[in-house]
Amino acid sequence: FVKSSVIEGTQHEEDSDQEDIDEKDMLKRELQDERKTLPIYKFRDELLKAVEEYQVIVIVGETGSGKTTQIPQYLHEAGYTAKGKVACTQPRRVAAMSVAARVSQEMGVKLGHEVGYSIRFEDCTSEKTLIKYMTDGMLLREFLGEPDLASYSVVMVDEAHERTLSTDILFGLVKDISRFRPDLKLLISSATLDAEKFSDYFDSAPIFKIPGRRYPVEVHYTKAPEADYIDAAIVTVLQIHVTQPPGDILVFLTGQEEIETIDEILKHRTRGLGTKIAELLICPIYANLPTELQAKIFEPTPEGARKVVLATNIAETSLTIDGIKYVVDPGFCKIKSYNPRTGMESLLINPISKASANQRAGRSGRTGPGKCFRLYTSYNYMHDLEDNTVPEIQRTNLANVVLTLKSLGIHDLVNFDFMDPPPSEALLKALEQLFALSALNSRGELTKTGRRMAEFPLDPMLSKMIVASEKYKCSDEVISIASMLSVGNSIFYRPKDKQVYNSWKETDYSTQWCYENYIQVRSMKRARDIRDQLEGLLERVEIEISSNASDLDAIKKAITSGKNGSYRTVKNPQTVTELKPDWLVEIAPHYYQLKDVDDTGTKKLPKGQGRAAL
Ligand code: ADP
Ligand code: MG
Repeated sequence: FVKSSVIEGTQHEEDSDQEDIDEKDMLKRELQDERKTLPIYKFRDELLKAVEEYQVIVIVGETGSGKTTQIPQYLHEAGYTAKGKVACTQPRRVAAMSVAARVSQEMGVKLGHEVGYSIRFEDCTSEKTLIKYMTDGMLLREFLGEPDLASYSVVMVDEAHERTLSTDILFGLVKDISRFRPDLKLLISSATLDAEKFSDYFDSAPIFKIPGRRYPVEVHYTKAPEADYIDAAIVTVLQIHVTQPPGDILVFLTGQEEIETIDEILKHRTRGLGTKIAELLICPIYANLPTELQAKIFEPTPEGARKVVLATNIAETSLTIDGIKYVVDPGFCKIKSYNPRTGMESLLINPISKASANQRAGRSGRTGPGKCFRLYTSYNYMHDLEDNTVPEIQRTNLANVVLTLKSLGIHDLVNFDFMDPPPSEALLKALEQLFALSALNSRGELTKTGRRMAEFPLDPMLSKMIVASEKYKCSDEVISIASMLSVGNSIFYRPKDKQVYNSWKETDYSTQWCYENYIQVRSMKRARDIRDQLEGLLERVEIEISSNASDLDAIKKAITSGKNGSYRTVKNPQTVTELKPDWLVEIAPHYYQLKDVDDTGTKKLPKGQGRAAL
């Protein structure tokens, strides 16, 4: 009896293994055929020839033409990976992960083996990895360990048009190393037509254009401005669903919270639609969405149903979802802005640029004629939207980048080869902030503290807090704090259909109940992963793990060390900690004197040394 069941079991397993292999083979074959239908396929050989001939190429191609998923594979097939890895940078974490997953599928390999990805605090690569998708910030950090990127044969700076801070800095660094590494190939790829600017910057590099398919897109505007774009977006989605022929819908929103709100309201409203109306599948996509749910947006829509993708800007150019026929564009996105006078950085909801609006509309016309519903007036479009978004380097805090550049031995920041230089005021502020944190000395040179800080992939204020914890013997507690701050506000999860406070009240304010219900295990695990990595980095900068939980003042002093010079801007409201003004004098005598600080701990007058640092 037992035996036969074992045999049966084995046979069954063999069968399913065989099925698995067949299925995998079939999927791989199907995917190989699909690859050949992409617009870029026709240009494969021509592109490879150009790469062979030129060291730097600017590649322009319509979104969805296959740049990100195909070019690294072509390079691999042509033998470039035999000489070194192929890097492909992405401004967004989700894009790096999702594209790597797709390419590993197409190549029929396990993600993390030949094809992998690397994003902050998550390295899904191995010794075997030949094609590495990564955030631009991660490649920037790799310069710290490998200043000539010797292990790479090709660097593809993808989504160059996004002009993120890290991409802009990468431009300068890769341009520099390409001069003494003639074997290194550089591909700068972009979805938009401002290719001339990239070409000019890279010493007149040739421009390779990949014509995409584009079907006509009908653009509709609202007659009058909308008072509430969330509400307008919901109404528009439902109207499309009820009145328009089949085809999926893509809605551009500014962030997770908006997406969750609309998701919930749409679910609620479609419940009452009755069986005559097709099913509406709601698929959210944003940076913090768990990986297994991210794949859902790519699943084909079942016959008779309609999909609505609720996305952040990620769907503008980074990710292409097939089957989209309708785009709903409220006209907003979150952008970072920085006031160098106060040192304050904030994420604000802003109107998008005309270039963005056009990109968004284009997403509906990829597989057939599309429609774009703009939730603003044509007057708004013509007169209120800027032509392009200002590059991040011109609207952000530069402390982190300045610290990285200084660690790379680049001292003369004013003459760094920026494509568009940052405002000198922002550079000065960054130098002052790093001086206040003792990362730079008064001559603007990197200190030992600064060198140690640069090892941590964190905001300089957090890195300083960790480095300072050595002195107060509380590194154990401080890295826990830093890792919790790094997972951000996703520790607590509130199911939308639960009224938190009242349910809590019903249990007579039970702590156990909170524990059971409102803590995101996933986020805690992520915090634990980050903490493990920070612990590893502590070892690297030779700071012993020591715990000082009973001495809260010590921990607060370490935190205060990380806030020197900028704590009054309280960048992260979660880090509000009571501190005593005279601690500032103890912690940073080079920056604060007793007469400088008043009762609120505000520094009255800059000593001016920070200014001298330039
Ligand atoms: P580009 O970089 O030129 O915008 P991509 O290489 O990203 O183009 O996309 C090419 C094709 O691959 C698109 O049809 C897209 O839908 C598909 N694709 C990309 N990523 C995934 C994924 N994770 N799952 C399924 N399909 C994907
Ligand atoms: Mg792409």
